[in-house]
Amino acid sequence: MLDIQAIREDFPLLSHTVHDKPLIYFDNAATTQKPRQVVEKIENGYYNVNANVHRGVHFLSQAATEAHENARKTVQYFLHARSSNEIIFTRGTTESINLIASSFTEGFMQPGDEVIISTMEHHSNIVPWQLQAARKGIALKVIPMNEKGELDIIAYQTLFSEKTRLVSVAHVSNVLGTVNPVREMIDIAHSQGVPVLIDGAQSVPHIQVDVQALDADFYTFSAHKIYGPTGIGVLYGKEEWLDKLPPYQGGGEMIATVTFDKTVFNELPYKFEAGTPDYIGSTALAEALDYVSRLGITEIAAYENELLQYATDKMQSIEGMRIFGQAIHKSGVISFLVGSIHPYDMGMLLDRLGIAVRTGHHCAQPLMQRLGIEGTVRASFSFYNTKKEIDTFIEGIERVRKMF
Ligand code: PMP
Repeated sequence: MLDIQAIREDFPLLSHTVHDKPLIYFDNAATTQKPRQVVEKIENGYYNVNANVHRGVHFLSQAATEAHENARKTVQYFLHARSSNEIIFTRGTTESINLIASSFTEGFMQPGDEVIISTMEHHSNIVPWQLQAARKGIALKVIPMNEKGELDIIAYQTLFSEKTRLVSVAHVSNVLGTVNPVREMIDIAHSQGVPVLIDGAQSVPHIQVDVQALDADFYTFSAHKIYGPTGIGVLYGKEEWLDKLPPYQGGGEMIATVTFDKTVFNELPYKFEAGTPDYIGSTALAEALDYVSRLGITEIAAYENELLQYATDKMQSIEGMRIFGQAIHKSGVISFLVGSIHPYDMGMLLDRLGIAVRTGHHCAQPLMQRLGIEGTVRASFSFYNTKKEIDTFIEGIERVRKMF
């Protein structure tokens, strides 16, 4: 059992008021609030352990390097990766996907080759592939979904051809909350000899992820969505793949030797980490993962699921309510519309009541086109949210509905 009141005390922003109302923060899928422990780690890093990492012989540089490399091990254990060489620090999910799109296309794709994505992808798992399509003439195939917001696995199987080189799909949809059956999807791809990249931006903070059990070839997430700092994230990749892929960016850190004629690249993971890494961010990310581990990801998932069920049940009784995403396996995200109320109006009026929700297309315009709408209102939960907050949210929706 989680002690929610004690947890909330770790998050100073949660006790703020907005428009003279207690803040109710239901925009966790966009970014999460940070516990003191994470903020203090950043402060301590800059005050006490700050020096550029790697190759420094002096005390501070070695201390900073050790902290940074220990953070990599924390990520390795959190994802249950085989080796810390498989953990690449990036700027976030977006950069991780761009890295793979760029390096994988350069290393392993020819014009006409195909990548399979899904209807419910975030723009960051669509546009990087389109950039490569324009550069190298690769093609995208899209897995359809049913009315409940579940991917059509039979149709998925028919998308494979001898030209399929990679599957790249979200573990959890940031709009529908659908938890995709990625283990099964990876097995299907592997049976065709095709590797899989999983966008874990919305899964890692909410459900247990074991990259070896999933047998994912690549897996990505962003620190800021799991109570860590902005500007850093992770690309996990199987060593056998990362070894074969060409580098993404060139510069310091990613080289072993350089002459004007030839450069020998550094070993993993540094081959993919050009430039000074975010060694303060990495330690703060590790602190956030430790925080989540102390609470227990299973306990977090159970509690957030309870919030999801509670909110869904109450919302369904509101007149004119349409919830987008009714998958059997769902995480704590609810996208909705009420009658003909524009999502922007709903969001603005809820904000006046201190309730932070997101409105719009949620960086998933092709999904909106599939749903035949322009946007939704989205409430997304964290372990620090409460049923009482959901009650206030429901009352708020009712108030807005009656105004229209
Ligand atoms: N994929 C999904 C499913 C997301 O929800 C997000 C963030 N909204 C991203 C990718 C991009 O993450 P970031 O902006 O942290 O790179």
